[in-house]
Amino acid sequence: MSKKDSKPTTNDAGCPVSSDEHSLSVGPDGPIVLHDHYLIEQMANFNRERIAERQPHAKGSGAFGHFQVTHDVSRFTKAAVFQPGTKTDTLIRFSTVAGERGSPDTWRDPRGFSLKFYTSEGNYDMVGNNTPVFFVRDPLKFQHFIRSQKRRADNGLRDHDMQWDFWTLSPESAHQVTWLMGDRGIPKTWRHMNGYSSHTYMWVNADGERFWVKYHFKTDQGNDFLTQEEADRLAGADGDYHRRDLFTAIERGEYPSWTLKMQIMPFEEAKTYRFNPFDLTKVWPHGDYPLHEVGKLTLDRNPTDFHTEIEQAAFEPNSLVPGIGPSPDKMLLGRMFAYADAHRHRLGVNYKQIPVNAPQCPVFSYSKDGQGRTENVSDPVYAPNSKGGPAADGERYPESATWAADGEFTRSAYTLREDDDDFGQAGTLVRDVMDDQQRTRLVSNIVGHLRDGVSPPVLERAFEYWSNVDKQLGDRVRQGVAGR
Ligand code: NDP
Repeated sequence: MSKKDSKPTTNDAGCPVSSDEHSLSVGPDGPIVLHDHYLIEQMANFNRERIAERQPHAKGSGAFGHFQVTHDVSRFTKAAVFQPGTKTDTLIRFSTVAGERGSPDTWRDPRGFSLKFYTSEGNYDMVGNNTPVFFVRDPLKFQHFIRSQKRRADNGLRDHDMQWDFWTLSPESAHQVTWLMGDRGIPKTWRHMNGYSSHTYMWVNADGERFWVKYHFKTDQGNDFLTQEEADRLAGADGDYHRRDLFTAIERGEYPSWTLKMQIMPFEEAKTYRFNPFDLTKVWPHGDYPLHEVGKLTLDRNPTDFHTEIEQAAFEPNSLVPGIGPSPDKMLLGRMFAYADAHRHRLGVNYKQIPVNAPQCPVFSYSKDGQGRTENVSDPVYAPNSKGGPAADGERYPESATWAADGEFTRSAYTLREDDDDFGQAGTLVRDVMDDQQRTRLVSNIVGHLRDGVSPPVLERAFEYWSNVDKQLGDRVRQGVAGR
């Protein structure tokens, strides 16, 4: 290519610049001049390259793909994205929770499993995890929980003592901590793990009938895990192991996929089910609510600009489309505020106009102005109006994902039902799902974690915590920590 045909470097305004290498100076050996606008633009841009890091879920990566409906679930939801045969473009982001943007991928931690469906009726986000449950069930505890997993104030170190202090004072965490300390606490790769909505959502069909649902994205690659030793070695050898694995697999044409299966509970059954079905620390046993297959998610395209397509990706569980709604899960209701608020802070109020977050359907919104706006606004700028502006169509899009609520304002736990407890399902996981080898690795993982800086009073509570999950497990943990 002749020099004439190649792309000349320009500044951000598109004006060609005369050198990629030399600042403008007074003679070759003299001082640099302030009116070298190109130099200053480069330095100023560089200083601002890093945007605020996500508070939890800072380290991650993602890919694009599509979701194809394979089974008819139209009797449960009218959502366009889940109608028979529909194929929808998607974006996914996987992440760890507690680490920072550069932390190792193989630390023991839940993994984020965040999906954006660019549907014909607006963006639908499912901000899930690779685990079906969570550590806490009230959003007031979330901030405290995350602080306990991050770093101390004095030495800036992560600290197992504060992690176990929080967990053992929060018995509702037992199910998730059991899951975390088991094999699935460190997936082999992001391709080898399931994704779950964890929360219960509502589906509404074309007749206005309501159902409570949970999403299970089952990996088609098979579940696989890293042992603690393998993960520790990889944390040093290749901190970006999971990020690299996903990118290179897609580059090789090995497109990972997940089969979406739903648990579906008739609306009325939630009122009398034996435990609170909206409690995020519990699963719905498959024996009570079997899985219904819906379709397949396939990832087949890597990002070309990690920053604009992954770092600036904004997922929010409040982004729900007609036919899908929230549930009385308090954690979900809290997250429906917190995520959008985080994006406004991190990316600015017009984050939905960043191409990766922009819907693929037309937007007729009355939002206006603000920092970083790129879409033009046109009159009229208010509603109602008589000037031909957009008008909400309540007949076509009724507020149907609702439920009745009543009572005095209160600050209290969910009302207890017959089978509501903090340890039962964790015990089932240990006794009925894990085999002997898995249980042995579970004990070894817990013991290794507890032996790393946990103080005696917290340690004593940890033994009690594990005995509450399973007496034998508690005994083995106590013996293991004592070195017997
Ligand atoms: P099932 O026997 O029907 O299901 C067991 C579930 O456990 C499967 O979803 C399986 O996922 C998953 N699983 C298998 N090995 C592990 C492991 N080492 N760590 C974590 N999960 C694993 O039983 P129930 O539905 O009655 O649930 C029993 C227990 O299983 C629950 O208390 C819960 O701890 C756990 N579980 C239940 C889930 C649910 O939604 N019901 C989901 C995930 C876990 P897969 O089929 O993909 O291998």
